[in-house]
Amino acid sequence: MIQYQKIIDKISEDTKKVTDKGVVASYIPELATINVDKFGIHILDAEKNNFSSGDALEKFSIQSISKVLTLALSFGLVGEDLWKRVDVEPSGDPFNHLSLLELENGIPRNPFINAGAIVIADILVSHLKNPKEDFLKFIQELTNDTTITYNRKVALSEKITGYKNYAAAHLLKSYGNLNNDVDTVLDFYFHQCSIEMNCKQLTSAFFIFMNRGKCQRGKNYLSINQVKRINALMLTCGFYDEAGEFAFEVGLPGKSGVGGGIIALLPNTYCVATWSPGLNFKGNSKLGMAALEEFTTKTGHSIF
Ligand code: GLU
Repeated sequence: MIQYQKIIDKISEDTKKVTDKGVVASYIPELATINVDKFGIHILDAEKNNFSSGDALEKFSIQSISKVLTLALSFGLVGEDLWKRVDVEPSGDPFNHLSLLELENGIPRNPFINAGAIVIADILVSHLKNPKEDFLKFIQELTNDTTITYNRKVALSEKITGYKNYAAAHLLKSYGNLNNDVDTVLDFYFHQCSIEMNCKQLTSAFFIFMNRGKCQRGKNYLSINQVKRINALMLTCGFYDEAGEFAFEVGLPGKSGVGGGIIALLPNTYCVATWSPGLNFKGNSKLGMAALEEFTTKTGHSIF
């Protein structure tokens, strides 16, 4: 039996000694106010045991981590047709770059760069009756937790400064890869990014990707094949243009967000979430990455 609690307590302690914690994202003004000293880590294993350390129960903005959850919901709704509108290759570019989108005729490289996530948002806006309410319900159901909700201040803050996302959405529209109007789709996208969760809630939501499509209550959301595809995308595209580095250091499929959260998982074994708001220059949580490297090294458990 792996001593998860001992390992994560040691990781929390080690992070306190680090002086360079990275820089909190400031391009979304509301995120700039977060205390860089926060650090949390949580493990949920396949037997549904929970282990917490540090600020693991404090909520934060999940930002791009939401892109995996919108992908899961839209994949369940439209199936393999989804890949006609979004590709599955790493971009090697920052999450908000537009150059490839134009070169590749409006088909985003993958669902986790912003342009790809905006296409997924468009699919949900087309297929859900009340998109914002229904998506939130999906997450509340996955986690069995109705306290999870949007932070409307963060959504508004991003709307006011979301110039690049407006540019991406207009470009997608010009290539015929956006069926709804730009404002409606971006309103949904900014809200999905503004969802607040803590590390424990994140591991609970991502349990389906660790557990072959089934949530903790045994309800089935995705086929084994769909889980394979989503986990493969997390491994190859989950960390902006640092996906190779994350696979090299940590060796798990996962996803980061500019709120400083990281979720990662070892299929059939555990989900692990970290939160440390300071980012490195590629936009990933600096201490979160270091903590997960220490975690897979100490447990000896990665997909490799
Ligand atoms: N809402 C953010 C944006 O679109 C998400 C970025 C991220 O977490 O990577 O810029």
